[in-house]
Amino acid sequence: MQFEYDDQNIFAKILRGEIPNNTVYENDHALAFHDIQPQAPVHVLVIPKGAYVSLDHFARDASAAEQAGFMQAVAEVCRITDVSDGFRAICNTRSHGVQDVPHYHMHIIGGKQLGRMLQA
Ligand code: AMP
Repeated sequence: MQFEYDDQNIFAKILRGEIPNNTVYENDHALAFHDIQPQAPVHVLVIPKGAYVSLDHFARDASAAEQAGFMQAVAEVCRITDVSDGFRAICNTRSHGVQDVPHYHMHIIGGKQLGRMLQA
């Protein structure tokens, strides 16, 4: 599969500092910030700093250090937002997954009782 990255997407602009964000956590390989339209009391997006369009792109091509840095950011977001009662991690992917922003991101959603996983 060929992955083509559009560097004009909104998360690329956030990473370049062209658009502000409400940062929760940052390390060398990942940035986490509050979703602008939160679906729950906790709704944070974790994105890699590298140019990856989707979870499968990141999983295939990101280095071990990038993947470790990303997962460390996920752990820090869970600690900082105190989702000790649980949360949902979602990576919408391409058209069937209804992905709006073509830069890989993981939604961390929690802070309240969520419904069942899918209403297909
Ligand atoms: P997805 O449909 O998985 O691509 O989700 C994209 C998410 O990005 C949505 O939940 C939007 O609310 C969120 N979003 C879009 N623009 C911004 C922004 N400038 N800052 C924070 N979150 C954003």
